[in-house]
Amino acid sequence: MQKIKLSIYNYIFILFISITLLNNGCEEGTSISDINLFSTSDDVQLGAQVVEEMHKDTKNYPIYNNQEATQYVQSIVDEILQSQLVKYRNVFNYKVTLINTETINAFALPGGYIHVYKGLLKYLDNEASLSAVLAHEIAHAERRHATKRMTKAYGANFLLGLLLGGNPSQIEEIAANMLSGLGFLYNSREDEYEADEYGFKYLQSTRWYHGAGIFFFEKIKDQSKNSTFAELFSTHPLDQKRIDALNKLITDAKVPPATESNIFTQKYMEFKKKLN
Ligand SMILES: [Zn+2]
Repeated sequence: MQKIKLSIYNYIFILFISITLLNNGCEEGTSISDINLFSTSDDVQLGAQVVEEMHKDTKNYPIYNNQEATQYVQSIVDEILQSQLVKYRNVFNYKVTLINTETINAFALPGGYIHVYKGLLKYLDNEASLSAVLAHEIAHAERRHATKRMTKAYGANFLLGLLLGGNPSQIEEIAANMLSGLGFLYNSREDEYEADEYGFKYLQSTRWYHGAGIFFFEKIKDQSKNSTFAELFSTHPLDQKRIDALNKLITDAKVPPATESNIFTQKYMEFKKKLN
């Protein structure tokens, strides 16, 4: 009986702390989904641990040891990071890893660790499309979508852990859970809209056609029944609303039109020839 009472008190206290957190977190323009109980260094630590485990799993994540290709993708990431809107360029570890499978997808782990499948590199038609995908992934890391989703899922457990005097840092356990279910990869539709918007803004300080995300959407939108794209659609849900929203951003920003001098098709075709 006493135990039940204790639990109820605990939950009341958790509710109290939660409300306090919500009030503190809700500055103007901040929504509940923006609250993050993790610090930016937790993001880096979590990401690094997942990378370590992931790279041991050579069956699902065989590293593509092509230095030239890795450096090429890294150079695009580095250029996007020069945008003044990228806040954590000196905090996160924006390191590119290529994965040697035909999967058409890319993902960013918390703390900036960007992974791109060889299948995606082969699938794209120009450098601008790749820059748009990478800017979108950088946005997922910068907006800290994974740890915000985990805050929602783990928030009460964290607080309970603190209350009961347990280990407040459950990072290792969470990293293990993240990897087993790869839950951190499954972005919500809201995360997608935000990553599209921020990715688009990051591209505006680069030499690539700022609207290149549309090329990618147009290319993949009819592939929802194609199993090669299953992971892409489950981790980055696509709907007409996303396409419309990005088109609106492009129209409103009056971006200069796409030409060979800002999409780099030729250069990209040369790059693709070197992939094996
Ligand atoms: Zn996404």
